[in-house]
Amino acid sequence: MKKISRRGFLKGAAATAGLMAASAIPLPSSARGAQTGELATLLDLSKCIGCGACVEACREVNAEKFPEPKKPFPKMVPEKRVKVADFSGKRDVTDRLTPYNWLYIQSATVVHDGSEVAVNIPRRCMHCVNPPCADLCPFGAARKLPNGITRIHPEVCLGGAKCKDVCPWGIPERQTGVGLYLSLMPAYAGNGVLYKCDRCYNRLEKGENPACIDICPEGVQEIGPREEMIKKAKELALQMKGYFYGLDENGGTNTFYVSPVPFDLLNKAVEKGPGKPHLKKVEDAMGKSENMAKAMILAPIAGLAAGALAFARTVDRLAAPTEAAPKAPEKPETGKGEGRS
Ligand code: SF4
Ligand code: SF4
Ligand code: SF4
Repeated sequence: MKKISRRGFLKGAAATAGLMAASAIPLPSSARGAQTGELATLLDLSKCIGCGACVEACREVNAEKFPEPKKPFPKMVPEKRVKVADFSGKRDVTDRLTPYNWLYIQSATVVHDGSEVAVNIPRRCMHCVNPPCADLCPFGAARKLPNGITRIHPEVCLGGAKCKDVCPWGIPERQTGVGLYLSLMPAYAGNGVLYKCDRCYNRLEKGENPACIDICPEGVQEIGPREEMIKKAKELALQMKGYFYGLDENGGTNTFYVSPVPFDLLNKAVEKGPGKPHLKKVEDAMGKSENMAKAMILAPIAGLAAGALAFARTVDRLAAPTEAAPKAPEKPETGKGEGRS
C-alpha cells in the first residue's frame, strides 16, 4: 500500500481546500458561455477518404482508458433497474460508438446539384460550448475544461447515463461492471461508467495534437482557437460553396464540419441508431429555462465532486513522489489540414 507523510497529506489537503473554496459557487457552463482559450476542431469533409486511420489511432492511444469490467456483473435491485450495457466482448466493433470505440466513420452517398457525391464523416463527441452532459450530470462526473474539452471522469461516474439522455446526439456509451458504483451499492446505485472522446486531453496537456488529427493522411482536421477555426470554417464553406455544421447546433459546439453537400441530405442518407448519431439541426438544450434551473441546482454538487476528485489525485500524487512532474502545456500546433484553396 502507498504511504503518505503527514506533511504531504496536509499540503495536499490545503491545496484541495483552496480548490474547493474557488469552486464553492461554480456556475454551469451554460451560464458562462464560450470562454476565451477554448479550442475547436475544423473538419473538411471534402477531403475525408474514409480510410479509418483516425479510428485506429484513437483506439490505440486511448486503449489504457478503456474499461476492464469485473464479471459476473452485480445483480440489480429491482432486477431491471438499469439495463446492462456490455461491449467488452465486442471490442473490435468500429462501425459505431462504443466504450471501446470513441470515433467512427459515417458514410453517405447523396445526389446534389445533379451529381452523386460520396461523403465520409468522422463522428465523435462535439465538445459543446454549453454541454448539457456536464451541466446536468447529478454527480459532477462530466465536466467541461477551460480549453473547451468535455470530459467524463471515470473515477466519479456512477453510470446513471444522464449525460447520454441529455446529449442531443446520445454520444456517451456505458459499460457495466466498472467504476465507483461497484464499491458503493452495486445493487442499488448506477451501473457502470460512461465513455466518449475526451479530445485526447492528456496529449493536449503535453502540447501534442489529438491522435486522430496527427494520423490523418489527408489533413482533414485541424485544431486551434475557437474564433480562428470559425473564421477558417466560414472561409472554407464559401470557397467550397459548401455547408457548415456545429456552429449553432446545441447553442454552439467546438467541432465544425464543412461539407460540399447540405447536412439535411446527409442526415437522411446516413445510418442512424444506437451509437450512430444524426446530423440534424439541434436547438440549444441548455437554453431551456428548466434545464438551466436544474444546472444551477446541480452546479455546487459538481463543484464538490471536482474538489473531491482533486483531493484524491493530490493524495495519490504525494503518495508516489518518484513520478515525473507533468510537462507545462504548450499551445497545440495546428494540424495538417489548412482548408481548401
Ligand atoms: S479523417 Fe483522415 S484518417 Fe480519418 S477516415 Fe478521413 S481521411 Fe482517413
Ligand atoms: S456532444 Fe453530447 S457528450 Fe459531447 S459535449 Fe455535447 S452534450 Fe456532451
Ligand atoms: S480527439 Fe482523441 S479521443 Fe477524440 S476521437 Fe480523436 S483520437 Fe479519439
